[in-house]
This record gives sequence, structure tokens and C-alpha cells, in this order.
Amino acid sequence: MKYIYLCKHIRRSLCYYTTNVMDDNEALYTIIHARDILYTISKGEQNGAYREIIRLIDAYIDMNCIHDYIEDMIDVDIERSQLIRYCKHCSHTA
Ligand SMILES: [Zn+2]
Repeated sequence: MKYIYLCKHIRRSLCYYTTNVMDDNEALYTIIHARDILYTISKGEQNGAYREIIRLIDAYIDMNCIHDYIEDMIDVDIERSQLIRYCKHCSHTA
């Protein structure tokens, strides 16, 4: 009986944890997607309010993303490559 109670408790806790983590991640990924869409407009076409929205979104992402950096080589030109390090979730470079 105790074992069953413990299982239910753990299962409920895991469900609660998973749901909340997924909700946080879902919100973060939606914000990242919104930022990426906002960046499709060239800076010359962005007004002050537009830039402020991007600044707030960048701040939100920086505060909420648990950065997980990976390294990759990018082509600088035909003959040269450069190592870059960026977050695999939000593309923040380090
Ligand atoms: Zn990140």
C-alpha cells in the first residue's frame, strides 16, 4: 500500500515537473521563434519601438535560456573557416 502511494506520488511529481518544464521550454522556444521572425526585417526598416521589442525579447531569452553551447566551423570565405561557439537553443554566441 505504501509502495503504491509512493509510486502515485512520484508519478504525480514527475508529471507536474515535466508539464512545467515543457511549458517553460515551449514559451522560450516560441519567443525564440518570434525573435527569429522579427530579425527578418532589415535594421533600416526597424523603428524605435520595433527595436525595443527585440531588445526585450533578447533580454527574456538571455534570462530564461539555459545555454547549452556547441562548437561548429563556419566558412568565412572560400579558403578560410572559423570556429564558432553558440547555444544550440537560442543561438547566443560565446
Ligand atoms: Zn541559449
